[in-house]
Formats: sequence, C-alpha cells, structure tokens
Amino acid sequence: MKWETILYDKVGSVAKITLNRPDKRNAQNYRMIVELDQAMKEAEKDKEVRVIVLAGAGHSFSSGHDMSGMAPEGGMAGWRIGSEEHRDFEEKFFVGKCLYIRNLPKPTIAQVQGYCIAAGVMLASMCDLIVASEDALFSNMVGRMAASGTELLVEPWELGVRKAKEFLFTGDFIDAREAHRLGLVNRVVPREQLDEEVMGLANKIALMPPVALSYTKESLNRTQDIQGYTQSMFSHFNIHMLAHGSDETKAFIEGAISKGATGTKEFTELRDGKFKKT
Ligand code: ZN
Repeated sequence: MKWETILYDKVGSVAKITLNRPDKRNAQNYRMIVELDQAMKEAEKDKEVRVIVLAGAGHSFSSGHDMSGMAPEGGMAGWRIGSEEHRDFEEKFFVGKCLYIRNLPKPTIAQVQGYCIAAGVMLASMCDLIVASEDALFSNMVGRMAASGTELLVEPWELGVRKAKEFLFTGDFIDAREAHRLGLVNRVVPREQLDEEVMGLANKIALMPPVALSYTKESLNRTQDIQGYTQSMFSHFNIHMLAHGSDETKAFIEGAISKGATGTKEFTELRDGKFKKT
C-alpha cells in the first residue's frame, strides 16, 4: 500500500515504522492509526523482520491524537458523544489497535524525541522498550479538557500510582531524565545519537533466537496480565467513556467552539493557558 502518514523501512532484520506528519508533530489522525496498524501487521508477518522500531519524523515523537482529524470518513460526525457507536469505535480503534501492538509476538522499540503527549505516551507505552533523547518531554494533559486519561490508562503501570496521580492531576511535563528515573524509558541519549542507539539495540536483540524471544515477551506480558494489566485497561476505558459524556466535557467543547478555538494554537491556549503561571 502507499503510505501517506507513515514511512516503512526495512534495514536488515529491523522494520522501522516512522510516524510521518512532522508539520503536525505527528499528531495521530484516523489515517495514521489505520496505516500504523497495517504496517505493524506487515512487520509481524514478514519472516525476515526480527525487531520493530516505532519512531517519529521531525521534532517530536507524537503530540497525541489529532483533535481535528479523528473521524472516519462519513462517521463519528453525526454520533452522539457516549453513544454505542462512539464507544464501539473507540474500543476497536484505540483500545484494540493499541493492545494489538503490545501483544504482537516480536520485540518493539519506541524511539522518542521531543514531545510525547497523551496518546503519544499511550502509543509509546505499547512498545516493549522505549529509548528517548535528552530533549524528550512526556505529558498527558487531557484532564484539562475534562477527559479521564486517554483510552488506555498506562500511567500507573509506567510511572507507579503515586507519580501517575501527579502526572494526570497536573498535566505537567516530565523530562527524559525523570522518565528514566521512573522506569518509563530504558535509555536516554543525546538527540544526535538517538537513531544509532536504537538501531544498535534493535540489531542486538535481532541476534536472539526469535521463537525464544516471542515466548519471553508473551510470558512477561502474561505476568503483567496476571497483575491485572489488560483487565485494568478495559475497566479504565469505561470510565474514559463516562467522562466523554460529562457536563464538564460538553462545557469545555462548547466553550472552545464558542470562542472559535478550533485551530491548534487557540485550542492549546484554552487548555493550557491558565496553567502557564504554575
Ligand atoms: Zn476517547
């Protein structure tokens, strides 16, 4: 298929999938999520591919979901927020496609630079390993828009519950050093060494026997599942959908529309403006 929003490269036994909307800081729109899913499936099927790298072109890994480009063609626009169709869409499209990446039987590495925000954190967290550059900044400020986290609540698993609360209650950024200290990322390197570091790690893992690797990954994921990982994601998703239908969310969206804050810059100001002094 012809990719519009991603790049797909094979370097030896490594498949590198790059989110490729650099002018939008790789905001994930409908098309990108579909293409990412297809690219992951292609890499999974390809017997030559031993390791999958997920990267972002340009300044940032991903600034989250594209608030203006998420609706499937002809869909969603007419949906009532919180309706069965809306819930069904989010469950299959966001929850399903993310957990597919988490569970696919090949090792995955997220290569993160610049902003990694909200659904960017969710996506990176689906990968087995995360390597970040020193300039990486992580945040999830969807609470400021009256949402309850993104569709998957990865934060307590990635940061620990105490830090997850601070992260989600404030929407503040944590930098690469702090992310490393908390265990969110495996390694931190200068920006100019990021590509080399990730490819070096990917090539090393690619030398491991692939079946043993897939079993190890499955066993590690199951260990996390026994502690409730996947169940907790579906439990949170119900809460997330409840928050979508809340009066607070409606008020925020209506406020944004009435103030004409539909462009990214105005929208960001409405969301983050009052927090800037804190
Ligand atoms: Zn949602």
